[in-house]
Amino acid sequence: MWEGIPPFLREQLEAQYGEEGAARIAQGYAAQRATTLRVNRLKSDPQTVGEALRAAGVAFEAAPWSEDALILAGASEDAVKALPLYERGEVYLQSLSSMIPPLLLEPQPGENILDMAAAPGGKTTQIAALTGNGAMITACERHAARCEKLRFNLERQGAQRVTVMNIDARQLDELFAFDRILLDAPCSGSGTVQAGSASRARFDRETLARVGKMQEALLRKAMKLLRPGHEMIYSTCSILAQENENLLTRVLPGMQGEIVPVDAGRFTGMPLLPVKIPGTLCIAPDALYEGFFVAKIRRRIRK
Ligand code: SAM
Repeated sequence: MWEGIPPFLREQLEAQYGEEGAARIAQGYAAQRATTLRVNRLKSDPQTVGEALRAAGVAFEAAPWSEDALILAGASEDAVKALPLYERGEVYLQSLSSMIPPLLLEPQPGENILDMAAAPGGKTTQIAALTGNGAMITACERHAARCEKLRFNLERQGAQRVTVMNIDARQLDELFAFDRILLDAPCSGSGTVQAGSASRARFDRETLARVGKMQEALLRKAMKLLRPGHEMIYSTCSILAQENENLLTRVLPGMQGEIVPVDAGRFTGMPLLPVKIPGTLCIAPDALYEGFFVAKIRRRIRK
């Protein structure tokens, strides 16, 4: 069951979730994950996309919690990429778990929104779609090549009113103030491991410490850029508490941050892992979902 999984990762998972919990995660790593996509409401709708998929012989069903989240039966990502609706940006290949942070962010038209770590843009384009291109979005990305990919996806998906900034978000000017922030932080990727498939991810103490430093700096910056009384989302595709709950517990009290409990019950069928902070969400990897962590945070108004 643990074949091909880095021993350090197994150690961490067993320490956090116990042997039984870790074994469940290992089974999720071994599962063949279904191809999933998001209907892009800026260019199409579930009915039109459904008809095009059926015409192409692609069987699918919607996730119980969103008619825009489609789970394909037996079609590969490459098969989807060959379809004209993909070329036209009417759908975006996106994991189910990765659709959750923008949904919980609840972006509204007219708001000034920061996506701090944005490329390749799955969540930026989803925020644009959720607001009908009505929000002003600032999308930051540190790496130039990934920024190009982000620009390409924004264009293809028809996302407008997005300002792309090719900078390290830790350097953002603190004169900025945002109504909502998504920090989909760089992470170890411990939720997305697929046993048997080659991965460049490294799992050792040094890598976790390096990633953790970045996550902490970005979270501290986000809390400074968020308007008091407003809310942000912190998410990672990691299921390790070091990158999630432990970080929040360490950083939030000193930054006027408090957890806003999310209603996991709204996501029927989503497999969950136990969390150390009530009201946060940790999704278990399985045949439909990637492992993911999501927390909603409010910046308190200082009295
Ligand atoms: N939110 C993206 C999406 O849904 O498509 C995925 C983001 S990925 C988890 C994290 C991204 O953050 C990577 O593209 C990485 O290059 C970028 N990144 C890492 N450190 C950063 C920093 N200090 N400032 C801005 N971007 C950063």
